[in-house]
Amino acid sequence: MESGLSQAFQEELNCFICMSYLTDPVTISCGHSFCRACLRLSWEDSQLPVQCPMCREPSQQKNFRTNIVLKKLVSIARQASLMKYLSSEEHQCVTHKETKRIFCMETRIYLCQLCSDSHMHRGHRHCPIEAAAEGEMERLLQQMTSLWEKIQEIQENVEAESIFKILFIDYLLMREDMIRMEYRKWRAVLREEEEEHIEHMKIEGIHVLEKFRESEAMMIQKSKQLREMFQELRAMSQEPYVVLLQGLDDIFRRSKSMQLSIPQGLEPELAALPMIGLTERFKSFKARLFFENLFMFLCMKDLFNVLRRASFRPQHQDTPEETCGCYLASWGLQSFISGKYYWELNFKASWDWVAGVCTDSWLKTRNKAVDTKGAFLLFCVKEGNHYSLLTTNPTIRHYIEKPLDRVGVFLDCEAGCLSFLNIAKSSLIYKYPNGTFSHRVWPFFSFGQIIP
Ligand SMILES: [Zn+2]
Ligand SMILES: [Zn+2]
Ligand SMILES: [Zn+2]
Ligand SMILES: [Zn+2]
Repeated sequence: MESGLSQAFQEELNCFICMSYLTDPVTISCGHSFCRACLRLSWEDSQLPVQCPMCREPSQQKNFRTNIVLKKLVSIARQASLMKYLSSEEHQCVTHKETKRIFCMETRIYLCQLCSDSHMHRGHRHCPIEAAAEGEMERLLQQMTSLWEKIQEIQENVEAESIFKILFIDYLLMREDMIRMEYRKWRAVLREEEEEHIEHMKIEGIHVLEKFRESEAMMIQKSKQLREMFQELRAMSQEPYVVLLQGLDDIFRRSKSMQLSIPQGLEPELAALPMIGLTERFKSFKARLFFENLFMFLCMKDLFNVLRRASFRPQHQDTPEETCGCYLASWGLQSFISGKYYWELNFKASWDWVAGVCTDSWLKTRNKAVDTKGAFLLFCVKEGNHYSLLTTNPTIRHYIEKPLDRVGVFLDCEAGCLSFLNIAKSSLIYKYPNGTFSHRVWPFFSFGQIIP
């Protein structure tokens, strides 16, 4: 009778998926319970709503809390079978004929009380076997969680990579058009030079796309390895406590070292190719601009952070914001509605900077909302050791080398457009299409400064 009852209990503590004891059990909305790891693997590729593996009832949620009561019951059952195993005559201490109830953390062997007190084990960490088993199980679960997070991180990176690749291809096409238009504007220039420029860029583009493929393949390979490791950990979590207590060291070492280097994806960047005579042509429109005194510009910090999030990868999106500095800004004493003007700015010592023009209304509402409507700006945003260039209206990420210090801005009110130049390289960073704006605009710049 009693064994029939315990048999029935034990069956209830089994997972429908792996058929072993429930490990870190979670109870989903229909009331059925599974191991967390089993559910993770079985729902991995499915979108919400997911289905209960047992009764097929849909669930709107993938993450559940541990069912503590169930977890406790499983651990009682597992401890009981561990005790049953240890108290059998053949597993008793050979010397003292006593049941081994103590675990030595140093030698990872089971001991009876007398052995544990012996000279050989002086200074060792010893604890009751049940407690040791529970502790090891918790370590194993933590390891599985950390591994799973890494698997998710790679998955996000792979998805981001494919989006980045498409954006990069679009950028190449956009840039080709833009460069061609710029060459055509100055008819005196030879057609040959234009073709050479485009050819050079295309070769570089092909090279980058090849790197994208390599990076993607590497991520997929790594993801596969981590998944195999996760399966291995799961299999270990299903082993009886006797096995668990003695077999974890090697598996932990491998799992940890595998998580050390997670491939992070590519930050492609095209070289800033020179266009001969570009800066000289713009310089003929050089205007003497006067700017307001620099002052603290509070909204700039939010704006930079919005663009930082727009340009970097998923796992960077909750990195702490740059807090150790302030943003200074200024705009022209004069606004423009007609004519052509060229001016240069030097951003040598700043980590985040922005240059361009903006409308009256943007300047007026600047502290009320984080908005770029009415601001035609080139942003250089820093994240870790990397810089990204972006322009607003619409937001475009530019996969082009960042200017070292001097940036040229060319405002053409007649055509309603704006160009940005990398002066040192005599290269075009970006030109807004003609007719981008028709209103009065103010020259504007801002930069971040570290407060010492
Ligand atoms: Zn399971
Ligand atoms: Zn169900
Ligand atoms: Zn003994
Ligand atoms: Zn010992």
